[in-house]
Amino acid sequence: MLGVLVLVIGVFLGNAEGVKVIVVGAGPAGIAAATTLLSQGIDVTVLEAEDRIGGRVHSVPFGDAVVDMGAEWCHGQKNNVVYEMVKHLGVLQSSNYSASLFMSDRKVVGDQLTSDMHELFEEIYSPDGNKKQEEGVTVGEYFIKRYNESARQKFSGKDLDICLLSLDLMHHYVQSSEGAFSWFDTSANSDYRNCEGDLSLNWNGFGYKTALEVLMRKHPRVYDPSFPIQSKIQLNKVVQKISWDDGVNVSCTDGTFHTAKHLIFTPSLGVLKYKHRRMFSPPLPRHKVRAIRDLGIGAVMKVLMHFEKRWWPEEFNGYSFVWTHEHRDMLIAEFTKGPSRYGRSWLLNFMSVLPLERNPNALSAWITGDLVPEIEKTSNETLIDGLHFALDKFLGHKFNITKPDKILRTNWYANQNFRGTYSFQTTASRRMKDPSSNEILAEPLKNVQGVPTVLFAGEATHSHYYSTVHGAIETGRREANRILHFIQDAENELS
Ligand SMILES: Cc1cc2nc3c(=O)[nH]c(=O)nc-3n(C[C@H](O)[C@H](O)[C@H](O)COP(=O)(O)OP(=O)(O)OC[C@H]3O[C@@H](n4cnc5c(N)ncnc54)[C@H](O)[C@@H]3O)c2cc1C
Repeated sequence: MLGVLVLVIGVFLGNAEGVKVIVVGAGPAGIAAATTLLSQGIDVTVLEAEDRIGGRVHSVPFGDAVVDMGAEWCHGQKNNVVYEMVKHLGVLQSSNYSASLFMSDRKVVGDQLTSDMHELFEEIYSPDGNKKQEEGVTVGEYFIKRYNESARQKFSGKDLDICLLSLDLMHHYVQSSEGAFSWFDTSANSDYRNCEGDLSLNWNGFGYKTALEVLMRKHPRVYDPSFPIQSKIQLNKVVQKISWDDGVNVSCTDGTFHTAKHLIFTPSLGVLKYKHRRMFSPPLPRHKVRAIRDLGIGAVMKVLMHFEKRWWPEEFNGYSFVWTHEHRDMLIAEFTKGPSRYGRSWLLNFMSVLPLERNPNALSAWITGDLVPEIEKTSNETLIDGLHFALDKFLGHKFNITKPDKILRTNWYANQNFRGTYSFQTTASRRMKDPSSNEILAEPLKNVQGVPTVLFAGEATHSHYYSTVHGAIETGRREANRILHFIQDAENELS
């Protein structure tokens, strides 16, 4: 549908030359906006704060393949623009993450119990808002109540003990899914929609950057050297001030100024939360400020570990960890390095490791929770020692756990150009309905002549695919098309 629309608009854009659009940010939304405009002959300048493109898509060589510091999986197939864009190229494949469970007291958790608990988790929690819950209730409130009730109905004896001890692990899964510091931050009811089909398609060791290469026509299978996107992107341009009225004036921290008729702003909700007051002149309208305040963004942390010698078996679909109460309480005295809060060591925020495609000697550790900002600041030595300590605690009786010889670590929260990983709806944000807080965030700022002058794209502006790359790409195209429609309408009025 979108493709047809762009084609139709293309016919009308004979006079569009000279219309200049600034796109702030070269993440998926910014690149999608810029490529859509460029393909219609509109002049674009993309200002990107980092020294690289991609934003929260950041694929880097590591070990034997390319790994993702940010987005890793294409979530779903039907109505997923990323899947649609690459499905004929054979670059995606299914993942198998049926993680085995390990206890800190080294009691064995059987496969049946593991799969029953997994089933219970999925019965209670799905980010997909199709499972309607009561409004005003957080995922944490809802989950704990339902989990305790259902666990007592389904399990007894030792199995029930393990199931109840696993509540922290369930919290970890929800935090990873929602990108929130706590499951009490996120709303149980939400507008999020899953795309039907396989929800964790991976890029076969080539990284999520493949999707951006396709979008930019840089991928060998769709290569078009004449498409000028690369030359339109300026790196290391941190936009500081956006003044708008009859057009936009933009100043960057390096002292450069840029002007245009329209501007599409794509930085994250985290950036908006921290910077909107100083950035926009005139200030953003109150309802948009409220949406920025009420929507949520937290952070997860990934540590990619490479080992000289692989110590885990060939057959490996991930490990998840459950601490007993006793070990949890002792941990702070047993491993003293690194941050802690309320007597809880940071190691309790590390609960799972996953395999990495085509990377037989590498593992990815997921760290979640409200200590992530502190953990992002720890030294490599503390991180390596801590992860080694925890892995040994859970798996040392089975394998000879060594320390990684190389690690890569993320700092999405500390980085001023992101201030978080992905957005979610809070109970406060859901007080706004029709338009929702996400839709309010997406509303353009129009000048007195009604010209859409500052437009907003980026994952958090999507009404139901927020938090994802496919959502971000749709929003970039949406705002590019808003400008194209405006130009078309203006031309129609003139003729
Ligand atoms: C750890 C992690 C795992 C994830 N996993 C998945 C996944 O598996 N699947 C999935 O679909 N999604 C995943 N996501 C989410 C996905 O990466 C994002 O939803 C998506 O990249 C958002 O794109 P965007 O263009 O809206 O924002 P961004 O990617 O954040 O792009 C915005 C750009 O704006 C730039 N910018 C910021 N401030 C300024 C400024 N002042 N001046 C100029 N430029 C600026 C930034 O540097 C950035 O390049 C993950 C994200 C993270 C961090």
